[in-house]
Amino acid sequence: MNDTSTRGQVHIRCSQCGVFTINSEHCESCGALLSVVKQRKLVREKRDLELQKREREKGPSAIELQIKKMQQHRFWVVRAFSEVIYMSWVVAMAVGGFIAWILAAIIA
Ligand SMILES: [Zn+2]
Repeated sequence: MNDTSTRGQVHIRCSQCGVFTINSEHCESCGALLSVVKQRKLVREKRDLELQKREREKGPSAIELQIKKMQQHRFWVVRAFSEVIYMSWVVAMAVGGFIAWILAAIIA
């Protein structure tokens, strides 16, 4: 048993330059990231960040903007109407959330 020196070693071929690197996550020749797990993690993190960024840029939804506009309307009738729409929207959201919660409870 004198092959312990090679045991547990991982030879990874660099996809960038073709050089074999032993037991390292980075290429010895060009420094490229070799660990596939790490590469996937990086890609996933980047995608999550982009999703969060897009979510922030989107801001409030169209219906929220419309309701906000109506709430500042000079006719009180429109403002009252917007209150009604807003309340029913909030109730619809609450009911939707409740149904989702019930469904989740049933499935789980
Ligand atoms: Zn390389």
